[in-house]
Amino acid sequence: MAFALHVNIERCTGCNNCVVACPVDALELYTLDPVTNEKIYKVKHGKAMVLDFNSELCAGCGVCVEACPHDVIRLSGRGAVVSEARVG
Ligand code: SF4
Ligand code: SF4
Repeated sequence: MAFALHVNIERCTGCNNCVVACPVDALELYTLDPVTNEKIYKVKHGKAMVLDFNSELCAGCGVCVEACPHDVIRLSGRGAVVSEARVG
């Protein structure tokens, strides 16, 4: 599989919709602890977030793109539905 996921993290609110919607658990949303660099799974407003994407698991279904209320996910790759992310 050769899918790539691009997320405009500036506009991502950390709502977790995409993570919950993904049928193969390819997405993981977390916050990095600035001191220990460990993953914090409870995302808090105002803290840097990381949306981790496992391309090995991704089936390119586009469900996460549909699930995002802010249209910040763009999926590209072989056989994938390409959805334009709104930038800015
Ligand atoms: S395209 Fe489908 S399989 Fe890939 S991360 Fe999004 S919801 Fe998961
Ligand atoms: S659904 Fe969109 S806004 Fe919500 S966590 Fe995923 S990328 Fe961010």
